Amino acid sequence: MNQVKIIRIPILPMSMVNAYLLLGPDGCVLVDAGIPGSEKKIGKALAKEKLTFRDIKLIIITHAHVDHAGSAARLRELTGAPILAHEGDAKHYSREEEMTFCPTSPFARMFFKTGFILQPYEGFTPDLLVTGEQGMNLQPFGVPGTVIHTPGHTLGSISVELESKEAMVGDLLASGILLGGIMRRNHPIRPPFEDDPHRVAEELLRLISSGHQTFYLGHGGPLGVNEVRRHIDYLRSLPNLPKA
Ligand SMILES: [Zn+2]
Ligand SMILES: [Zn+2]
Repeated sequence: MNQVKIIRIPILPMSMVNAYLLLGPDGCVLVDAGIPGSEKKIGKALAKEKLTFRDIKLIIITHAHVDHAGSAARLRELTGAPILAHEGDAKHYSREEEMTFCPTSPFARMFFKTGFILQPYEGFTPDLLVTGEQGMNLQPFGVPGTVIHTPGHTLGSISVELESKEAMVGDLLASGILLGGIMRRNHPIRPPFEDDPHRVAEELLRLISSGHQTFYLGHGGPLGVNEVRRHIDYLRSLPNLPKA
């Protein structure tokens, strides 16, 4: 049986920020590490499954924003598992370079001013660096699936494709209102920051074309194909935006 159990870890309430545990037939993989200090919540989710940090075989970080990478270094210590990420965001993981933020709405501009997204986190060097368009097979970590490069939200954004045609897409899109998660959870929205909406549309279309049915998100979700298609049409209707 190749079934993977997907467990959403509520980093913040109401699905505002999610991480995921993938329980495969031969191993357990963590997708995203939450804001700094999330290790307790992740430990709780593991305990519910009668697992401990040491059962995690791999930590996948979808991109370098603080709400996804914030606890990665600490979790590596606790689990002993390697961190997998894409080279496109490598200089942000190591804290050598500040990220750029292209706000997608007036709310995002306001949210940016709160400083939440600029919170420092403990820097790290990923142990497994995916480069270019190269993917990474997750079978050696016990989960039937692949990590693929899906840029657009950030240069180094990656997604997890499971053989079951479920995908963890990080912040390629969100759902709900404001940051995502709150109310109208089947309503797709752009995350507060996004480098290149047209590239995001391309990557989402590629995921749909390869048969993906369910999309698990960093904020809100999950979404089905119809909602994702609707979002692709919306992104394509946007003008080419200058880089901030
Ligand atoms: Zn993000
Ligand atoms: Zn995020």
